[in-house]
Amino acid sequence: MGNAMIAGVQENLIRGQYIRAINYHNTHVFDSDRFERELKFYQQNFSPVTQEDLDEFFVTKQWKKEKPGLILSMFEAYRNNYDVALPLLEKYGFVGWYHVITDFIDTPVKLQKEFAETHNIDNDRWDEYSIDQRYAMTWDEVRQVAKNHVICSHTRSHYRITLDTPEEVMKREIVESKHILEDKLQQDVDVFCWLGGGQFNSNPLAAEYIEKAGYHYLFGNSKIHRIAY
Ligand SMILES: [Zn+2]
Repeated sequence: MGNAMIAGVQENLIRGQYIRAINYHNTHVFDSDRFERELKFYQQNFSPVTQEDLDEFFVTKQWKKEKPGLILSMFEAYRNNYDVALPLLEKYGFVGWYHVITDFIDTPVKLQKEFAETHNIDNDRWDEYSIDQRYAMTWDEVRQVAKNHVICSHTRSHYRITLDTPEEVMKREIVESKHILEDKLQQDVDVFCWLGGGQFNSNPLAAEYIEKAGYHYLFGNSKIHRIAY
């Protein structure tokens, strides 16, 4: 059975029936030409992946579009993921998977840079184009993005879950982040993406919270896990 499964996967790879994921963080204003060149390349070689496409892929174990799927993950909910990345994603017909740190968005504008510095959020070169000190997307912008793209939870405070993480922190980062997003968006949020990857079961307590919260997917370092529900 193990061999048959491996053979199946190889066959799918040969036919181009697979999904790749590429991660982006800041999509800087001054770097938008490069992002656009990358999107042109993706458009020639890959197909966009909606959440429905991902559901179907996991259920049928087949990728039915002509070109392999490409998930473009936009991390942290930087303002430049809205200003720069969003129009280009739409121009080239790709679906962005936006991994949102809810506390970053809820931080008052004047404190966002400090929040970034203390929460492992890359703020390199922001000063080169910042006018008003706002670095995170607003909730209105997240709602705009949600119309055509996928909003995912990336914890409340950009917290890295370890085996020592206390239970109340698990609850805050995994469960509360989902509720905040769902309340702001008035729609289900089914994807959780944690920091530093790891398998779904690498922390049994975290796995329990992810499952209990009702997530359908966990995005790890090198793999997307479908949660049994
Ligand atoms: Zn992150």
